[in-house]
Amino acid sequence: MIFDCEQYAGLCECGRDHELETKKVVVEYGALDHFEKYMQDVGLGSARRAVVYDTFVYNLPGVKHLKADQEIVLESKGLRAEDVLIEDMMTKLDSPEVIVAFGAGTIMDFGRYPAYKLGIPFVAVPTLASSDGFTASICSAIIKGQKKSTRMKAPALVVADLDIIKGAPMRLVSSGINDILAKYVSLADWKIASLVSGEDYCEKIAGLAEDALVTMRAAADKMAATGEIDHEAMTMAQMKSGLTMQLWDNSRAASGAEHLMAHLVEMHPPRFENAEGIHGECVGVGTFAAVKEYKRLRKLTPKAKKFEPLTGEWVMEKFGERLYDGIMKENSNDILATFDPQNIIDNWDRICAIIDEIPEPEELEALYKACSCKYLPEHIGIDPELGNEALYISAAIRNRLTLIRMTRVLDFGE
Ligand SMILES: [Zn+2]
Ligand SMILES: [Zn+2]
Repeated sequence: MIFDCEQYAGLCECGRDHELETKKVVVEYGALDHFEKYMQDVGLGSARRAVVYDTFVYNLPGVKHLKADQEIVLESKGLRAEDVLIEDMMTKLDSPEVIVAFGAGTIMDFGRYPAYKLGIPFVAVPTLASSDGFTASICSAIIKGQKKSTRMKAPALVVADLDIIKGAPMRLVSSGINDILAKYVSLADWKIASLVSGEDYCEKIAGLAEDALVTMRAAADKMAATGEIDHEAMTMAQMKSGLTMQLWDNSRAASGAEHLMAHLVEMHPPRFENAEGIHGECVGVGTFAAVKEYKRLRKLTPKAKKFEPLTGEWVMEKFGERLYDGIMKENSNDILATFDPQNIIDNWDRICAIIDEIPEPEELEALYKACSCKYLPEHIGIDPELGNEALYISAAIRNRLTLIRMTRVLDFGE
């Protein structure tokens, strides 16, 4: 399957001019056999090329190495995406005109970062499809000692060879399913936020995220029923979701209240010291908790409540001293203060209709079980008692409007 992305770029009905660096996404068995043709298609056929691997991928049995003007093979043991390591690699580059990153997420940052710094294109050859970061422009390398998401370069071309991707361990397949089923919540959050606060919203980009969700749901249903894994559909769903982040210039379509669970796990605040899981697993736990809570809230009748900023006392209690400053700073211009809470009440029927489109928790639970997905707090080392609270604590991690965050200006009479 080849996805021609350019139909999504350019001036849109939403009023924005969507920029897209990615010209083509190829997801096929044997895709690497035609790699040179795809490079030509995007105008990079004769560009001087550095290809970056790690030793693990480079030595995988049956992996075909690409034609290269320069090959860089990084020691995979202890390899992490960190600015000092990436810049050290950059000193070895022999004036490339394009960088091809061949590997998993870490290696992508060894393509994305230098390409951005050098102002040249980068091409992604992913060997896994367990999350939707490959087609995005977000670099998650540690920069100046801090792990954060920095906007850098998106790949001009993505060539995902399913002969390699199909070898990924089951745990990563399940994690990938979780990362896309999360869109049930993230899309609902975006729609609700635009209704009540007037936040910008784009039908076309939400439609692309929805397309990724529908594709993944169908593949997950098939896997649940037959045990068969449709790598092509699952990989393409990841690619499309990543493109929404590039087109919208942030992760709005792909990440809502549910994704903050993954951030919470990474941050290890008090009481969550033992939380542990790969990205999609934590997101699955966040999704299931959010779906249950949205369905519960939907049955209630809220009243508007005056906005109050988060108190330092609450932040200290939930996040502890180490994380206190960062959380206070993130919430210093709270999005909740920018609109009248009464808007939520006035739109409550429409919000309920949006929540009704999300599958029931029982339906999701059956699917998660059948696809070996993680979805309960205890699956990622969180005390089950803290599951719902984790949803509310994590809402403070990012100043983004979600239904969970909105409950701070709602009185449910509970
Ligand atoms: Zn648009
Ligand atoms: Zn994700």
